[in-house]
Amino acid sequence: MTEHDPPNTPTPVTTPHKMPALGLACPACGGGRLPVLYTRQKARCILRVRECQDCGRRVITRERM
Ligand SMILES: [Zn+2]
Repeated sequence: MTEHDPPNTPTPVTTPHKMPALGLACPACGGGRLPVLYTRQKARCILRVRECQDCGRRVITRERM
């Protein structure tokens, strides 16, 4: 009653490998890790200020409502 157990089993990943934020990429380094620092609600759009985790550049995106 031995269960076959591979020696190097990585922990199952349930979350996606990386979360592309609207297909956004840092204009400076091309990195895709741009978490939102803060969000500002405008009259007709939403401004999101993100900061690249790779080079630290701040990227502002606008989302139309
Ligand atoms: Zn960057």
